[in-house]
Amino acid sequence: LVKARNVHKSFADLEVLRGIDLDVAPGEVVVVLGPSGSGKSTFLRCINHLESINQGSIEVDGEQIGYRLHKDRLLQLSNQAIALQRRKIGMVFQQFNLYPHMTALQNIIEAPVGVHGESRKAATENALRLLERVGLSIKADNYPRQLSGGQQQRVAIARALAIKPKLMLFDEPTSALDPELVGEVLATMRDLANQGLTMIVVTHEIGFAREAADRVVFMDGGKVVEQGKPEDVIGNPQHPRTRSFLSRYI
Ligand code: ATP
Ligand code: MG
Repeated sequence: LVKARNVHKSFADLEVLRGIDLDVAPGEVVVVLGPSGSGKSTFLRCINHLESINQGSIEVDGEQIGYRLHKDRLLQLSNQAIALQRRKIGMVFQQFNLYPHMTALQNIIEAPVGVHGESRKAATENALRLLERVGLSIKADNYPRQLSGGQQQRVAIARALAIKPKLMLFDEPTSALDPELVGEVLATMRDLANQGLTMIVVTHEIGFAREAADRVVFMDGGKVVEQGKPEDVIGNPQHPRTRSFLSRYI
């Protein structure tokens, strides 16, 4: 579903991604680990073209993201075409960024109705199903300030799912939460993983990686240094950088 080849990304003189290759199969759950500054967030942002790339290519669902080939040259896609591609990709951030003046339900139907032209009735029915899926049916009419951090993040997950994405990207979804609220969000993500959603998850939750990931990817210095089954990468890391990173968590 995802095919990243030799992805390079620089900010001015700083080369943040230095040739990333990554394939993700449909239904696969990939957890990305790595030290601060290794380029994890930048890579996720390149996948849905929140950042443009300097070299290489990223395909999602058979389409190159952000560019099209025209007579051997890559041309940037129009904003409209990029918006269509982003429909396939849901993203959940560390900060939940819910609209404070909208209820949970209104937050979830905003993109399907406002951006994608779905009928309010269909979007509402789907939103109620999604709220049930994240265990928050009874909070449909509550505003974000009336919800705990964990509940807000679960609404944010439901909102990302509302566009029916083929791929979900999570960037440290539990890092901003009080410790006692982390578990409920990870449980929701584990459910999604078990339901066959294709997910790329950047997290420092090693336990989640161990239990929910089909594959763990360790990034350092803008490169994939090591990847494999969680029991191998976490249980028996081969690369010195992976070892020293994991030794801080275990
Ligand atoms: P963390 O675990 O702290 O979230 P990360 O692996 O997600 O780290 P990135 O956020 O991808 O790391 O950042 C990688 C590098 O790119 C950092 O040195 C960061 O300062 C730099 N960087 C990221 N975004 C920008 C930007 N918009 N402009 C300039 N530099 C940036
Ligand atoms: Mg980051």
